[in-house]
Amino acid sequence: MDLLNRQPQYLGVTHPVSLSYPTPREIHISDLLIQELLRQGTFESEYETRRCEVIIDKFDKLVKELIYNISREKRLSDTNAKEAGGKIFTFGSYKLGVYGTGADIDILCIAPRHITRDDFFYYMHHTLNNFAEVSELSSITDAYVPVINLRFQDIPINLVFARLELAKIPNELEIKENSLLKNLDEICIRSLKGSRDADEILRLVPSLPAFRTSLRCIKLWAKRRAIYSNVMGFFGGVSWAILVARICQLYPNAIAGAIVSRFFRIVYQWKWPHPVLLKPIEDNNPLNFRVWNPKIYHDDLYHLMPIITPSYPSKCATHNVTQFTKKIMEREFGRAVGIMDHIMTGTGKWSDLFAKHNFFGRYRYYLQIIVLSDSSEKHLKWSGRVESRVRYLISKLESIGSLALAHPFAKGFNKIHHCINDQMVKDVMRGVFDSTPINYKNDTELSQNIQDVTDTANIRVIYTTTFYIGLEIESGSRQLDLTWPTQEFIKFVKGWDKYDEKSMGITIRYVKSVELPSEVFDDGEHLLKRTNIRS
Ligand code: ATP
Ligand code: MG
Repeated sequence: MDLLNRQPQYLGVTHPVSLSYPTPREIHISDLLIQELLRQGTFESEYETRRCEVIIDKFDKLVKELIYNISREKRLSDTNAKEAGGKIFTFGSYKLGVYGTGADIDILCIAPRHITRDDFFYYMHHTLNNFAEVSELSSITDAYVPVINLRFQDIPINLVFARLELAKIPNELEIKENSLLKNLDEICIRSLKGSRDADEILRLVPSLPAFRTSLRCIKLWAKRRAIYSNVMGFFGGVSWAILVARICQLYPNAIAGAIVSRFFRIVYQWKWPHPVLLKPIEDNNPLNFRVWNPKIYHDDLYHLMPIITPSYPSKCATHNVTQFTKKIMEREFGRAVGIMDHIMTGTGKWSDLFAKHNFFGRYRYYLQIIVLSDSSEKHLKWSGRVESRVRYLISKLESIGSLALAHPFAKGFNKIHHCINDQMVKDVMRGVFDSTPINYKNDTELSQNIQDVTDTANIRVIYTTTFYIGLEIESGSRQLDLTWPTQEFIKFVKGWDKYDEKSMGITIRYVKSVELPSEVFDDGEHLLKRTNIRS
């Protein structure tokens, strides 16, 4: 037998830690977990599942139709235009099988080489704009992965696009082979990567049911503890998925309750910056794309908690983590280890694990970053821009000696203000607006509100998003002066080429815990999910 060429009998970069099968106790704990996840509403209903399938099917048809129409416009014959084809792939949490109510559906649209990115974004945006079922449509063409965000019958959808070096895209097309990436531009490669990663993750976990239940649990926990946000410097969906998949590899026969318990212990004790990998990084690098490698690339050395995406070209999904966000996540891992010990011994409940964070009760002082604009379209872009830069402020705050911790809250609070006089405008700009705003849940409600008020008076509508950073001052420190980092941050974000002084603004101020607006204590019903901008 050829021992050298024999494939390892396990999935992952090391042998499993244990091949044990579940004990009756672990089976019981896992049943309780599923009951709790059901109680918490993390599983979508059959009706929702069906609705998503119908929507995905519509997008598949739409993409094919669009490719046909653009092909005809480019003077392809009817036969060639029909044969041009087109295909969609879902990816992200939907593809991984952990989609839950309120989550987004990520869709990759694949086109043949004669359809450019500009063609696709232009035609898709204009087509969708005419659909009655579509709301909150926005194209973000300058993002790291350009995306069209929308709601279709109120379900959030993210569309990314890649064109392949092929004249036709048949329905049977698969995108697993690295050779398909040859001659593609960087943006297409990034856009394909989400789908290729999802396929790899699914291939690399030993038991899908255990993986899915564990991942649902970890996602719910991370959201409740407000540490679910790639953009703010925590982990995002794919990072949590890879981490859970790695624990599944280490315990290939375990079930969800046991996986989750080990998850917290292992992640808590992980020797960062040792990377989390699901398979060896493909470093023979046939196509010469940049692959995560701290031995070659100096930047990669700065990744504090590297979690590496499995598909070629492998990247670090957690490059946004800062010293402070690492500290916050480690604190949460530690808390969870303690709770899990109680759950496993029967002295604690799963609901303890999912208890809501106490971010707004935890600190005496907060920084409040108020981002404002005078139109909803501009605001979506401007507030998204600031949100994606908050972690730079956090990095700057790390160098302030008297600050033990600057803790960014995972999401911003959106509001619309109908200002009836200049004083109200000034108040909103200073962040004094607790009594004036009208919260909005979606665009329809929003435009209805605007209609109601603008019909009756001369009103200035201002949109705000407020981000919070909790401040923990070093014991013994008496003074805290954050003028320099906050001013620098404002200068930095205003340096954006689309920044318009007349219609946009940003203010940063301190607030004491007793001055926090009441909105921050609700359950976050009105927190709009941000657009999916990666940077
Ligand atoms: P959620 O349930 O929050 O939507 P998700 O896994 O779908 O979780 P998204 O933020 O919607 O996460 O992103 C969709 C996909 O895009 C991810 O699964 C991943 O493949 C890719 N992606 C997003 N952010 C990153 C990142 N920082 N690094 C690598 N890939 C990313
Ligand atoms: Mg998603």
